[in-house]
Amino acid sequence: MVRPYYSDDDSSMITKKRLVSEPLLPKPHVVILGAGASKQAFPRGDANGRKLPVMDDFVDIVGLQSILDKSAIKFENRNFEELYSELYEKNPKSQILKDVEKKIIMYFDSLKITDEPTLYDHLLLSLRSKDVVATFNWDPLLFDAWVRNLNKAQLPVLLHLHGNVRIGYCKNHNFMGDNGRYCPECYETFTPSQLLYPITKKNYKDDYFIKGEWEVLENALNNAFAITIFGYGAPKTDINAVELMEKAWKAKGKRELETSEFIDVKEEELILQQWKHFIHSQHYLHFNDFYQSWIPNHPRRSCEALYVPTILGKFVEEFPIPRELGFDELFTWLSPLIEAEEKLINPKPQNAT
Ligand SMILES: [Zn+2]
Repeated sequence: MVRPYYSDDDSSMITKKRLVSEPLLPKPHVVILGAGASKQAFPRGDANGRKLPVMDDFVDIVGLQSILDKSAIKFENRNFEELYSELYEKNPKSQILKDVEKKIIMYFDSLKITDEPTLYDHLLLSLRSKDVVATFNWDPLLFDAWVRNLNKAQLPVLLHLHGNVRIGYCKNHNFMGDNGRYCPECYETFTPSQLLYPITKKNYKDDYFIKGEWEVLENALNNAFAITIFGYGAPKTDINAVELMEKAWKAKGKRELETSEFIDVKEEELILQQWKHFIHSQHYLHFNDFYQSWIPNHPRRSCEALYVPTILGKFVEEFPIPRELGFDELFTWLSPLIEAEEKLINPKPQNAT
């Protein structure tokens, strides 16, 4: 059960001032990202205008046509993961498969984040280290945003549920880091995380790196106070993934207080149908646009702010993260939030003079 926070407040609204100065709720907010999130974060593409693909335009945008032309399979208007599985079934060691993989890695590895704060910077800076952002995306832009903010504020844990071009690991010493770098223990180059699996072999427990990522996610979902699913369409090819998430979200029994939020350009009815197993007692939110959603309107206090209407039954003041600021001004704006969090970790002695 959640402790009774802010219960000494008699007013009908918990203010921004109180939320900023009193970070309380230690339960995680778990955010799941799909291709739609990267598309919304980079509507004009990366720093060089390279587009972010979704599964349906994947072949076109990544430029796989000329390779696939050599295969005898029909690839127009098809979901890429189904296509990949068909190629794999035909011959798991074919040159076409190797070329496809190489091209995908080259495309995503070449993507570069824009200089100014992006939606991904805003997302990461609006969460805390108790929170988790788990992405299904292969593009490295979330990781790059995470790296550039790492020393500025406590950031959420980042998980790559389908591997990522920027991430490698050493199995022997349980280290992970920038792909291409060395394990600090044995000085061997990190093993790149695997990106592509045929659907029939998509067992998350088989791969060392992916298995670890899923374990952290399952644990966070067990304890989460809120889940936000952003731009993730749960394709047929991910049926195992969605089952795993559902099991973990429901592990602690009936969830009556916790909130599910969906950020998706799709119609609400479709979303409700698709994610009905994640919604309890009608506690859900749906937004088309990230900047209207809960997290950026209650940065670094998303769970505290959700607690106010769902448990206290009161109103809560919004304090949206400013989208127009550059990094320096943004960190100045965030500093009262971050300072209050640091006090929580290192409280001053009571009798200090
Ligand atoms: Zn090592």
